[in-house]
Amino acid sequence: MKLTNRSTVVVRKEMSLLEKLYLPAILGGAVITIKHFFRKKSTVKYPEHTREISEIWRGQHVLKRDDKGAERCTACGLCAVACPAEAITMTAAERKKGEENLFREEKYASTYEINMLRCIFCGLCEEACPKEAIFLTDRLVPTDFTRSEFIYGKDKLVEPVDERVDVTKRQTPEVLAFKQQKQLSHNK
Ligand code: SF4
Ligand code: SF4
Repeated sequence: MKLTNRSTVVVRKEMSLLEKLYLPAILGGAVITIKHFFRKKSTVKYPEHTREISEIWRGQHVLKRDDKGAERCTACGLCAVACPAEAITMTAAERKKGEENLFREEKYASTYEINMLRCIFCGLCEEACPKEAIFLTDRLVPTDFTRSEFIYGKDKLVEPVDERVDVTKRQTPEVLAFKQQKQLSHNK
């Protein structure tokens, strides 16, 4: 019984003398190879040369701080739930008195890890985050020799206080306008 009409019948006919010599096929292959020598190369000599990439390229993540330098992430786990590659793990902790300048919310991520070998850079974690805490950036994840180096913890993900990562180009005009509304507690 045929389920589809995609099957083709293989013809096992006897090869001709020309085909048995293989020379025409070898010459045909050589002609194709030589033609490629004169075509514009579609590869670049990375890392000496890099391609121009889009401003909204989905590369290495950043965990953002707010204007005062406190970490925005509240360890709600929505990014981890949204992640189709199950690349994100975290541990939640309660903010102690006196740590208000370190963590924006009462609950924060004491550990936060992304397995860059699992990540497919889909950006769903960025979309799921209600605190605008995680963004993908135009930075490339550097290569390495050991798998453990690709588990990115807070040391690699949280932006340094004095070296902020600009993500404004990733935000739509609507989001930027929303953030100007200081009467909303989200923007205070
Ligand atoms: S970019 Fe996609 S795959 Fe990577 S951590 Fe975020 S949700 Fe997961
Ligand atoms: S990055 Fe955003 S979505 Fe993920 S745990 Fe932190 S606050 Fe929640």
